[in-house]
Amino acid sequence: MLFSGSLSSVNASKMTVKNLTKNDLPNVKILATGGTIAGSSQSSTDTTGYESGALDIKTIIKAVPELKKLANVSGEQIVNIGSQNINNSILLKLAKRINTLLASKDVDGIVVTHGTDTLEETAYFLNLVVKSQKPVVIVGSMRPATAISADGPLNLYNAVEIASSKEAKDKGVLVTLNDRIGAARYITKTNTTATDTFKSAEQGYVGEIAGGKVVFYNEPIRKHTTKSIFNVSKLDKLPQVDILYTYQNDNRYLYDAAVNAGAKGIVVAGSGNGSMSDTALEGAKDAVKKGVVITKSSRVGSGIVTHEASDDKDKFVTSDSLNPQKARILLMLALTKTKNPKKIQDYFDEY
Ligand code: GLU
Repeated sequence: MLFSGSLSSVNASKMTVKNLTKNDLPNVKILATGGTIAGSSQSSTDTTGYESGALDIKTIIKAVPELKKLANVSGEQIVNIGSQNINNSILLKLAKRINTLLASKDVDGIVVTHGTDTLEETAYFLNLVVKSQKPVVIVGSMRPATAISADGPLNLYNAVEIASSKEAKDKGVLVTLNDRIGAARYITKTNTTATDTFKSAEQGYVGEIAGGKVVFYNEPIRKHTTKSIFNVSKLDKLPQVDILYTYQNDNRYLYDAAVNAGAKGIVVAGSGNGSMSDTALEGAKDAVKKGVVITKSSRVGSGIVTHEASDDKDKFVTSDSLNPQKARILLMLALTKTKNPKKIQDYFDEY
């Protein structure tokens, strides 16, 4: 049975929700993309070998009838896939749809259901290109809908509650799992299977949900949504940006391969504070000579990659505290504006 393990906890939190009529309730649109929150397995004890993106959004909404107390909820299926298969064209489709919906006075907030593996990339992309102050909340789950103690139903309930709340306005795109609210700019997946996987080690969560109440403590100060200059309304593709991982005994041939395959930008998942081997450095410098923008991030998992005099000399950009996968998102959008590394560095310092 779907979601059978979790409905009792939803019942508890619903007690704080007042009895409002349909007209008083906000209108929240759920855009579904798949992932574990739409996952299904034959076995209730299977929490890893299931099929992700198996259930459609109508089935998921029906399984959480408590949503009706929070908002007038309707669903729309964008795709139904594991998030490792989300690509640039899906990102553009999703962003454009969200902007169209939020421009309407009939939509008060958006929830996006998403696989957790690349959730932070979609969240940060939307954070940079959504043109509205209305809440946009990305939600996933770590256990499929069929599992004992499935986390999807309450995560979805929380997401709709956040998307319905006035306090969530103008906070950039938000991410919720495990009763926490994270900012798209800061949050990252930190554990392969645990339900408390989404964390932001240095900046912290922006809020939490407790006793059925949405509470905010912080807000992201990096530019987002209505203050962002990035606009995808006229784009049907994004520049190719690849990520290259640094390791002992690495070489330059992956840099050459990326350049030959048409990369306009390369993000380096450098060691430590963005360091690279001499051989990788040669590959990166030659890529710059061919007009490719190199952005140094780090494989470490947290911390800022500092910008040194040598980076100016090499015409390298540094990623501030963006991890490689989020640095790729910003570099793609930056390259829609300019190829000038100095200007792109300004974006990395601001967004
Ligand atoms: N790999 C799948 C995805 O990202 C399942 C992971 C998840 O959703 O937790 O969609």
